[in-house]
Amino acid sequence: MRVRVGARSDIGRARERNEDAYLLRDPLFAVADGMGGHRGGDVASALALEILESGDDTAGDATPTPLVETIKEANRRLLDRAESDRDLRGMGTTLTAVLTDDAKAHVAHVGDSRAYLLRDGTLQQLTEDHTLVQRMVREGRITSEEAGTHPQRSILTRALGVDADFSVDELTLDVHPGDRLLLCTDGLTSMVERDRIREILGGEDDPQVACDRLIDAANRAGGDDNVTVIVLDLTDDEAGEGERVATPAMTKRREPATPSPTAAPAKESRRPVRWRRVALWVGVLVALLVAALFGARMYVDRQWFVGDAGGRVAIYNGIPTEILGFELSHVRVTTELSTAEAQRLQPWSELSEGITAGSLEEAQRIVDQIQQDLTEPGTQGAAP
Ligand code: MG
Repeated sequence: MRVRVGARSDIGRARERNEDAYLLRDPLFAVADGMGGHRGGDVASALALEILESGDDTAGDATPTPLVETIKEANRRLLDRAESDRDLRGMGTTLTAVLTDDAKAHVAHVGDSRAYLLRDGTLQQLTEDHTLVQRMVREGRITSEEAGTHPQRSILTRALGVDADFSVDELTLDVHPGDRLLLCTDGLTSMVERDRIREILGGEDDPQVACDRLIDAANRAGGDDNVTVIVLDLTDDEAGEGERVATPAMTKRREPATPSPTAAPAKESRRPVRWRRVALWVGVLVALLVAALFGARMYVDRQWFVGDAGGRVAIYNGIPTEILGFELSHVRVTTELSTAEAQRLQPWSELSEGITAGSLEEAQRIVDQIQQDLTEPGTQGAAP
């Protein structure tokens, strides 16, 4: 069986460096997601894949055990390297690898990168995340929906380079022409819903275009993390012209890392990127609310009306209404004029409802008019 390959690694939209890496060396394919401050993440993922690549004898005799042995060797080498270089203390990496042979695919896995199989339109996850939340799901403490948004969902329970005593998950499956395998880092699965991944994988024939679309989807969803995707199409065709077939040469690639004096965010710290965005939006909303309240207050403060205050004609600042029990006005001037008497005169019959005025001066003129009408009943009816 032949393998058509698409692959891409992208820094995403929030990180300063790409600590993911991938390996394409038919029949061996792998993704790795490094972690650890400063340059540790870069080194861990690259070193793990170098060691995986150099475990050359695994390719000829495609059984899963040599693959697992190579990964265990990579773990030892990472631990040694961190021991001898202070800058690399705390580095580690995930690793999800597939070794294909004629009718089988051997999967070896540590961490929270994933392997999936798309067969007849159904997407099946082949690996289980080695994360704290996945353990909580398995123990029935949270649901898988809750795991997707759990604040500690990025904490790994297993990774290369962390502990000498560690095990590798392995799985061998029968594969058929038409099967499509996906290897990806959590930068894809944390940003893009599983159904959307299935839709893109099922809707795009070209494995490279499928990779590009998956990465675009992760970046459109926010691109909080580095994202790396390999799509492998198993086919019984011979390689045709222009067909993308992995060459025996190593074609590992990564976006060039941007040199930065600051420590790269550790794997556990990727959530703050999202929290920063949430905090920003909350800040914007609060500012808008304050501006709206301030604007409303300015408007109310510029309104005037003449009304009743305890049986006396009064000038109010504000508007003659209340919202949620709060009066939107207050008395500025109380006169000696009787509201009841004024209301007996036709123009002022609705005085207690409030007669609006454009300014304090205009309100004062209304009061003057009321006073005049009360003292000179003959002239009443001269509305302001
Ligand atoms: Mg990641």
